[in-house]
Amino acid sequence: MAAMSKGGSVDRRHFLRASTGALVGGWAFTQGSLSPAAEAAAMTLDQAVGRVGRLPLRPLGSGGRKVSVLIGASDWPGEVIEAGVRCGVNYWHKAERFRLAGAAAGSRDRATPGSLLKDRDGHYCEVVVDRIRGNHETGAIDEEAHVEFVKQAVVQSGLRYFDDMVFHFGYHDRAEYRENKGFIRAFERLKKSGLVRRLGITQHHYNGNPKVPGGESAAQVLSAVMEDGIYEHGQLFYSYGESAEVESFVRAARARGFGTIAMKTTRGMGRMESDTEFMKTLPEGVSPYNALARWLTTETQLDAAVIRVRDLAEFADTCSGAGKPLRSADRTTLERAARYADRNACRLCGECAEQCPERLPIADILRAERYLLDHRDETQARRLYDELGRPADRCRACRACVSRCPLGLAIPEKLAQVHRLLA
Ligand code: SF4
Ligand code: SF4
Repeated sequence: MAAMSKGGSVDRRHFLRASTGALVGGWAFTQGSLSPAAEAAAMTLDQAVGRVGRLPLRPLGSGGRKVSVLIGASDWPGEVIEAGVRCGVNYWHKAERFRLAGAAAGSRDRATPGSLLKDRDGHYCEVVVDRIRGNHETGAIDEEAHVEFVKQAVVQSGLRYFDDMVFHFGYHDRAEYRENKGFIRAFERLKKSGLVRRLGITQHHYNGNPKVPGGESAAQVLSAVMEDGIYEHGQLFYSYGESAEVESFVRAARARGFGTIAMKTTRGMGRMESDTEFMKTLPEGVSPYNALARWLTTETQLDAAVIRVRDLAEFADTCSGAGKPLRSADRTTLERAARYADRNACRLCGECAEQCPERLPIADILRAERYLLDHRDETQARRLYDELGRPADRCRACRACVSRCPLGLAIPEKLAQVHRLLA
């Protein structure tokens, strides 16, 4: 490894950058002088890199390597990946979507970035592996199929090997983890061939999931995985206002040297930005995304986090907060954001599911809602809702689920809205 390298609307986000980023970063923008699209288009790679600077590195568990406190993702646009590389992002999520031959039109794949190929050993590239013959609830762990998938991904991506082989969505419960070693055996075979190096897991909640009888929470499963010491790190849903169970797991992971990476970190943020009245209540000159990056990377026990960014301007806004102290105004912003999110946005905890007489996948439906309203990614939201079979119109509005929701969300109304928007 090369030590050096590894060492009232959506306008608000852009408005904040225009009003405060111009002062901080010395940009040529003045308050309100550019539309968001124009601002995003006007920001150059050099400006974005200059504003972010060098991201801090932190050990990922006790495995002996350091990763950037904010990791990168293969679905970032090419110029954002380039900016990330220049700012020291050295861990790449879902790198199996990179294609040496270029990405097919309309696919979620990306051309393999030249900067990763040039300094391959300076980056940690992750291959995320799904169950087969079904989805994450119904599919199977299959040693042979996982081995073949990774072999193909190595060739297609041109990356020569993957640093981390990650079990996507994770185990349904602790019993499955103890009894089914197919994924681990696939990893061991691939490791012997030099095609993968470490084992990781992205763990979803399965407690109460009607398609996964006996399913358990992410923290329960991850705790068992951590105890064994075979996996080096876990990725889990984590945002402000997290449950006590998740907080407790993250603390235990830090003490034990098990790596943690936060995902789905921007709960409720997209819909906050659309709420002009709410945005007026936030302290002037603070970007919620920048504050979130500060908080995730300095105030939590996490090793790293991934935050969705769509262009250079968002990259600069978000990542310039990484590793920086949380100021009083940032804290106020996040406290208000957390209260707003708790009134509106699902934590994906799964607590409500077993109450539903229709066996609706409530958390998955509301994950689609988050893609739509927070990430503003209608394609991903529709894809997920289609995969689920567009089930929200089966809700009878009996409200049995509502009393189990720790946030007291208006679940039937939310399901009806999702169906209206995505069916
Ligand atoms: S209100 Fe709808 S989602 Fe909630 S338990 Fe009743 S049928 Fe299920
Ligand atoms: S609706 Fe409430 S209980 Fe159900 S997954 Fe979301 S936050 Fe958890």
